[in-house]
Amino acid sequence: MTDAPKAFVTGWPISHSRSPLIHGTWLRELGLAGSYEKIAVPPDAFARFLGGLRADGFVGGNVTIPHKEAAFAACARRDAAAEAIGAVNTLWFEGDALTGSNTDAYGFSANLDERLSGWREAETAVVLGAGGAARAVVHALKAAGVADVTILNRTRERAERLADAFGAEAGGEGEFEALAPRFDLVVNTRPADPDGLAPADVRAIEALPEGALVTDIVYVPLETPLLAAAAARGLRTADGLGMLLHQAVPGFERWFGRRPAVGEALRAAVIRDIAGGS
Ligand code: NAP
Repeated sequence: MTDAPKAFVTGWPISHSRSPLIHGTWLRELGLAGSYEKIAVPPDAFARFLGGLRADGFVGGNVTIPHKEAAFAACARRDAAAEAIGAVNTLWFEGDALTGSNTDAYGFSANLDERLSGWREAETAVVLGAGGAARAVVHALKAAGVADVTILNRTRERAERLADAFGAEAGGEGEFEALAPRFDLVVNTRPADPDGLAPADVRAIEALPEGALVTDIVYVPLETPLLAAAAARGLRTADGLGMLLHQAVPGFERWFGRRPAVGEALRAAVIRDIAGGS
């Protein structure tokens, strides 16, 4: 008899991760034997943690901040998305080879396919923010064929580095208002400001063309001030929760052997968890 597959999510900190809720729900829904646990690992212990995965009986797992680049470096094999993004969030073994993928771009695209029809026809997109998640978003936009991608960031140099890597344009976040009339699609990746949307961003939303699509990958709060302003203007929007749910699908399938569905019950369970303030 073989042991039930064991998977994990690791980060530092990791207490707020909703991945155990997602994978635990799917294991129950599908009636599968298996487990998925949260493991806090500080950066100086991460290499040792990876080295012990096989001995600890893990088939693979997820990696989050701040370990995604270290996981990339530690993998013997990586898929094309991981190579393009330069970070790994999903690990498994191929034989003895630790193998990594980055499923954030897949999650981003799958969420928009579900909730923002027509996004793949966008010709011009703006990405607000230039951090780790923005890399996956820009990769996804380029892979979807969005020809003209502009990255605007508080720290302009970071936007420039990201734009250089993906053949995009770059600017400072103060340029959003002036450039807004040319964007078919807006993707925010900056944390939501608890004080609300900056007045310049409100004016930028007003200046978007008729029919522009707006999405935020931030899902706490579920309706960010940016999405609220876009919806108030009558624009179609998609929140970021589906990206979190969909990015988990490929890992689950690799570890547990079944492809799970992103359903309304799972979405509702995660929304309840967010409302619970954890
Ligand atoms: P990150 O690497 O720390 O990057 C954060 C970005 O936001 C940077 O571009 C930063 O600008 C900008 N920023 C931060 N505070 C700002 C402020 N007060 N004003 C203007 N810009 C600000 O973070 P990340 O990994 O990219 O994640 C970004 C967000 O996406 C997080 O909230 C995360 O939870 C969310 N996320 C969601 C999913 C999902 O599945 N839905 C997946 C990944 C991430 P500077 O470069 O100037 O510092």
